[in-house]
Amino acid sequence: MADPEILICPACDAANRVPHARLADAPRCGKCKALLFEGRPLALEARRFDRLIGSGTLPVLVDFWAEWCGPCKAMAPTFAAAARDLEPGFRLVKIDTEAEQALAQRYAIWSIPTLVVIAGGGEVARQSGVMDRASLVRWARGAAGS
Ligand code: ZN
Repeated sequence: MADPEILICPACDAANRVPHARLADAPRCGKCKALLFEGRPLALEARRFDRLIGSGTLPVLVDFWAEWCGPCKAMAPTFAAAARDLEPGFRLVKIDTEAEQALAQRYAIWSIPTLVVIAGGGEVARQSGVMDRASLVRWARGAAGS
């Protein structure tokens, strides 16, 4: 793990090189000085999501959800809590499937909530339906091999 990770800033989308061993030291963006991890999921639209997937090196855990979906809302606090467990080894992202229909289609999201783990730029696992926090964290780590 000597190689630096490429972290995309949650505030300005700048790419930051951070040594893997320094991930837990509350790294900040070299450009805008924002914290690179905020302890919560990022709500992204397609352009920013593509930037993250295309240029970042951390595994990404995506929650595809929608406002009208009861189970999605029920799981939102669990997903938010999982960000505190999984960062800085992961980036957690929320995609609103109503606002980002093309993205939901690209990932063939047929039911929500659906969680997708992306590592090395490609999908490595997905799971639909509500999960508890411990199962979610265990599943995501196992899927990303971390
Ligand atoms: Zn920044």
